[in-house]
Amino acid sequence: MGVMENRFEENVLTTSVDWVFNWARRSSLWWLQFGLACCAIEMIAAMQPRFDMGERFGMLFRASPRQADLMIVAGTVTRKMAPVVRTLYDQMSEPKWVISMGSCANIGGPFDTYAVVQGVDQVIPVDVYVPGCPPVPEALYYGVLELQNKVIKYDRVLRKEGQEAADAQREEDRIATGEAMGRPVAAAAR
Ligand code: SF4
Repeated sequence: MGVMENRFEENVLTTSVDWVFNWARRSSLWWLQFGLACCAIEMIAAMQPRFDMGERFGMLFRASPRQADLMIVAGTVTRKMAPVVRTLYDQMSEPKWVISMGSCANIGGPFDTYAVVQGVDQVIPVDVYVPGCPPVPEALYYGVLELQNKVIKYDRVLRKEGQEAADAQREEDRIATGEAMGRPVAAAAR
């Protein structure tokens, strides 16, 4: 910054284009408007004025998967619903991200039955797991902050090494997150 120092008025801010892109992408995650069970009530509560998640993170519910880049799987994923979740995920725009919210989405929760998928990572790849039954809105906040770090990392690799390297990095992160959760990597989710 030595050359630029004291060359502008005090109200001029200098930064890198990378930083601006990272900031814009991580601060405008638009999430798909759908919920599967009781966890969705906490997700909705997080969006309401008391917690105000949308306003703080620049997040919006979108009713179309084509306009969304974040899926928050909030609730029990039944076997009947799983293909619908996968279709919605496939229709979302890239780069897309997934937060698994609550024990049911993470590992099937209390429903160890033939009708319930024992973890949504068997259906779609997951970037962040938020534990709890249900997780409180603050926990979802933390999940979003973790996801923002991943978005920044993805963007950085994308700009420096290209699309393929960024996607590989994201895949590695997903595997590491799954392993940290004690989840085997589900081939069906890839
Ligand atoms: S984790 Fe608990 S609160 Fe969330 S959907 Fe399952 S049973 Fe409901």
